[in-house]
Amino acid sequence: MSRDLKTSIKELEVTPENYLHVVVVGASQRWDLTIECLSASLTRLPHVRLKPPGRLLPHVSYYGAVCVSDNQGLSLDPDRKADVVAYTFLAAFDLLEKWGSDNVGSAAEFFNEIEAYWGCLPGSISASGAFDVDAKDRLVTSYLKLKEKRPQWFFTERDVPLPKDFDVKGAAAQSALYVHLDELVAPPAHPEVLSAAFVAAIRDSMSASQLALWSRLVRPSSNKNHPKRAVLLVSAPRAAGGVSVVGVEFGTRNGDVDLNAPVTAITMRRHTVSYMRERGGASVAMLSKHAVIIGCGAIGAVIADALAATGVGRLTLVDYDYYSEDNVFRHILDPTWIGLPKVIGLQYQLERHYPGLKVTPRTTNGQDWLRSSDLSDVDAVICALGLPTLEQSFARALRKKDKLLPLLFTWLEPLDLGGHSILTWTQGEGCLDCLYRDDEGVRSLQSRIAFLAPDQRVSKTITGCGSVFVPYGALQSRRTALMASEHILSALSGEAGPSYRYWAGDGTAAAVQNLRTTPWWDEARTTMPGAQQSKRAFGRPCKTCRVIK
Ligand SMILES: [Zn+2]
Repeated sequence: MSRDLKTSIKELEVTPENYLHVVVVGASQRWDLTIECLSASLTRLPHVRLKPPGRLLPHVSYYGAVCVSDNQGLSLDPDRKADVVAYTFLAAFDLLEKWGSDNVGSAAEFFNEIEAYWGCLPGSISASGAFDVDAKDRLVTSYLKLKEKRPQWFFTERDVPLPKDFDVKGAAAQSALYVHLDELVAPPAHPEVLSAAFVAAIRDSMSASQLALWSRLVRPSSNKNHPKRAVLLVSAPRAAGGVSVVGVEFGTRNGDVDLNAPVTAITMRRHTVSYMRERGGASVAMLSKHAVIIGCGAIGAVIADALAATGVGRLTLVDYDYYSEDNVFRHILDPTWIGLPKVIGLQYQLERHYPGLKVTPRTTNGQDWLRSSDLSDVDAVICALGLPTLEQSFARALRKKDKLLPLLFTWLEPLDLGGHSILTWTQGEGCLDCLYRDDEGVRSLQSRIAFLAPDQRVSKTITGCGSVFVPYGALQSRRTALMASEHILSALSGEAGPSYRYWAGDGTAAAVQNLRTTPWWDEARTTMPGAQQSKRAFGRPCKTCRVIK
């Protein structure tokens, strides 16, 4: 701590509650700060509270909490608690000194953070807004509902279906007004509270067209005795980019704001497709992409989920299989879907989870889907059947369609041997048939990249022929699915040409079962996928995809 700062500290005491109380004189004013002294654990910076200064300050909440750090990526030495407290104090002091002077930048910085300040106003109620905060003035629809015993507001566009996840059953719909202003009216500073004067100030800064909407919001109700409440949502540009939005619920009287009625702050979370996608890191470029997944078992369903999470906007899921007890521990669907088509369950589950996603379920097989599709709006096809003969036939049929598309095949080896992902294109060299060639290019039943040596039985039955299954692990199928998802996304993002990716497990479970493996599996365990390995898959003479000289 510098000598200057030492002489600036006017008071320094530890309170009975184990807080450090410091009064320090800055360049233009005194700061009265209380710093939490650390308890046994040291997992974040101590809280700093400023004695509420009675005016608005950037990064200082209504009650005086100073936002020193968001604690992201913070690394603290647990043996240096005193240093951590000193560091936090200095950081708070610097921040207050920087923004505490009454300059224009300070006001802009305060309004950059207005939504956080609004959320800390006394009695502020949270809200979910499923309409775009797009600066277009309009009436929207509001619902007030108790959620876990706490009131919560919901806002939607008028006359559009409610978002699937808005549970507003039993709540009466009412109009609310959304307006956009060039700048927001300043909120109250402690100890003042939000009042109807704030609403009146907003009204006074409205344009003529905004006032026309306003009068529709506050017009007298037919029931004169019934006190009417209304909601106003206001947005304004942020100096740092984007827009801020705050809300207020107030009383109306005689076609105007009731200056004597109480007012409640509403803090709105954006519940729109564009906001959730952007905030969640979903790719905007992928929203227009349409991927078709043939086979929605343990691997295909995880690919569907992964592509949706990445931002792919349209999925067609093709599988005639019904969900059963056999699937539960390897599949992402829950047991309530047992007895129903997997693709129907996935449509419901994925569309609910990923706003803006459109899923088309097809309870048929890949060949039938191909016959009925002209592929004009398809960007990628993924095959996750694990049935080589069927997949080769499907791939040959797709090649005849005369449309250039990435076509990916993925499958698992038994137990913990590993998984494969083969990216081909529907035109040009490199196809699934390439894998089923010997070194001279003669057709072979064994794939060139198999990890399991041929002629071994790995199927198990628990209750007889009706329940034959190949033992795969849930983690192995997920790992393979994620690898395949990255692989197809690389093609959707512009990577050209055929390629082969794989992972090879440690094979412990396979060894216990005395399963024999191929020399390629030994090699795969110690090499990373690359051009050399892709050559192994596609580098042989192949009548399907090449003109053999
Ligand atoms: Zn080929």
